[in-house]
Parts: sequence; C-alpha cells; structure tokens
Amino acid sequence: MVRIPSFSLDRQIQQLHSELLDATDRVLRRSRFVLGEEVEAFEAEFAAYLGVGACVGVASGTSALELALRALGIGPGDEVIVPAFTAGFTALGVMAAGCTPVLVDVQETTGTLDPEAAAAAIGPRTAAIVAVHLYGRPADMGGLTRLASRRGLALVEDCAQAHGAEWQGCKVGTLGTVGCFSFYPTKNLGALGDAGAVVSSDALIVDKVRRLRHGGQQERYAHVEFGTNARLDELQAAYLRIKLKYLDRWNERRWQIALRYRQQLAGLSQLRFPEDPPGSKSVYHIMAVKVPGRDSLARDLAGMGIATDVHYPSALPDLPAFRGLPSLDVPKARLWASTQLSLPMFPELQDSEVDEVCQALVQVLQKGRWAR
Ligand SMILES: *Cc1c(COP(=O)(O)O)cnc(C)c1O
Repeated sequence: MVRIPSFSLDRQIQQLHSELLDATDRVLRRSRFVLGEEVEAFEAEFAAYLGVGACVGVASGTSALELALRALGIGPGDEVIVPAFTAGFTALGVMAAGCTPVLVDVQETTGTLDPEAAAAAIGPRTAAIVAVHLYGRPADMGGLTRLASRRGLALVEDCAQAHGAEWQGCKVGTLGTVGCFSFYPTKNLGALGDAGAVVSSDALIVDKVRRLRHGGQQERYAHVEFGTNARLDELQAAYLRIKLKYLDRWNERRWQIALRYRQQLAGLSQLRFPEDPPGSKSVYHIMAVKVPGRDSLARDLAGMGIATDVHYPSALPDLPAFRGLPSLDVPKARLWASTQLSLPMFPELQDSEVDEVCQALVQVLQKGRWAR
C-alpha cells in the first residue's frame, strides 16, 4: 500500500477547491470559452511574472515548441539540437514543426544538454538548439547562449519543468530567443487539463505565434498563413490565474523539501544529486538522485509504502519513436536513464513524510539487502 505518493494533486486541489469553483462559475456566466478575457489576463500576468515582453497561451507544451520553431521560420530540412535525455515530448514538438531533432548527450553532473557535445553536433542544416531545464534546474545557459550566438543559432528554452527557475537573476524562458512552457496538471504551474505558453520579447515572434495558434488568421476568416488549432481555453486560463498567485510559495516549499532531503541524505555515498549550475535557482520540479541498483532500491522503498518514479527510463535514441533520428554517442544520457530515481516531491509533502522517506533510504542503503 502506498503511504507516501511520489506525486499527488489531491491536497492542493482540496485547498483551492472553492477558488476553482468560483473561477468556473465566472467563466460559465460569461459563456465565452476560447480566447477571451481570462486568456488575455493570464498572458499579461504570466509575462509580468517572468519579466518578458509577451506571453501567448497555447494548447500544450508540445504545441508551444512546435509554434515557437515555426514562428522562427525553422521547419522541414532544418536540424534542431535536442538533449538525448528529456521528456519524449521535447523531440515530438520539434518533429511537429517538421524539423529533424539531432539527439545530443547531456552532462554527467547536471543531466542537461552538454554545450560541448552540442557544438560537435552543429552542421550546415542546424538552425536551433533546445535547452531543457530538466527537473526544474536551469540548463548550462552560459555555455549554450555563447554557443548559440557564436554560431548564429536560435536558442529555444523548454521550460516545461521550470516555472520560476532563475539563472543569474533572470527567470528561465527569458534567456534564449523564445521560451516554451507546459501547464500539464503535474507541472509546477499546472492547469486542470492541457495547456501551454510561448513567451518572448520579440514582437514578430509573438505576433506570429498568436496567428499560428488560431488557424493562421490575421483576423476572423482571414487565413494569411498555414496555422493550426492550438488555442488556450478560458477555463484553463482562469485556473492558471489562480495557481500563478501561489507559484512562488509552492516553489519555495519545494526548495525547503529539497534542502531537507539533501541534509538528511548527505551521508549516503551511493546517492548523487544533480549539480545546479552556478548562479542558478532550481524550482525542484523533480527530486532527482542517481543511484546504482536503482530498480531494486525502488522495489524496496515500494515495499515500505514509499512510491518513487523514474524520469526517464530511456535515453531518447533507445525509444522506437526516435530510433531513426540522427544522434551522436550518448553514454551519459544512458547512464542517467539507468540510475535516475525521483523521490517524492510536491509542495504539500510534509516534513514528517520527507523524514520517513530519508529514514527508509538510510535503512535500505546502509543496512539493507542492497549493500550485498
Ligand atoms: C511536460 C513536458 C513537455 C510537454 O508538455 P505537454 O504540455 O505535455 O505537451 C515538454 N518538455 C518537457 C521537458 C516536459 O516535461
């Protein structure tokens, strides 16, 4: 029986129940459901939160990546560098734009895109680099912004796991050419269904994404280019406006939980925590550790009522959907895939639960069967 879930929304939804019902009621009374004042208000509020020129609400994080690339004029025939260790949806968004992802290794210490490996993968068709801020920790933006500007490439940030994370005092999503967010329910800022956003301070990109999400229409029935349907709806925007008010508090709590884990687990030499790049602030979307014997450890913890998860069990080149894509050697991505474990992490997790997870880890790793 699961006593401590690896992730749960129950507690948060209980706390917000009446606020969410009020927002639902507001939208129902207005009876406007797609692209209305809730979407506009959320876009303004999220852009202000990030400190970026504008935000365009879209249907998902995957469509955010697709539309961002299309707005940059990057498409069929173009290659886009994508880390070999990320959610499969990162590569799918790139492929939806008609581009070819080139899968590149990550750093052993951080699990994020290795700027040197990325440099080695640049060819005549390379048009963009996708930096994924994995687990809520900024990627190596020093190395990646230098590389992108030196080689004249667009730098697209996949911020699906990093709402509010900072690098050198700036929020992720504002560091590259364009930022892409997912508001899938389990993300640090999550809707009650699918939702996403593209953010940028480049007015041309913003205008183009606005058109593309809405059928390529300049105005109603004036399809000036080949767009799609990837709109954010009013209910999701209304829910996101409520949750945005809590985001900093929730991220702060995640940070406290991570600190508690790190302090109590510091003595376990088998565990490795991913390193934060200098001058960065993680929002701990996922409490990741690397540990040899990951699968048996996860089984032992499950036997003690503690659920864990794995993000992600495969490097992208090892998945059937991506096997045909160009890829360099990705030994570090494979090492992450075989040793990564996600400990319980969500803002409503209590200190006593964190302590219990830590005690179980100490018990299994120091004295348990695992040692033999
Ligand atoms: C969740 C996620 C996505 C996809 O977002 P959706 O809203 O589910 O389409 C893309 N990239 C990363 C890193 C993610 O975690």
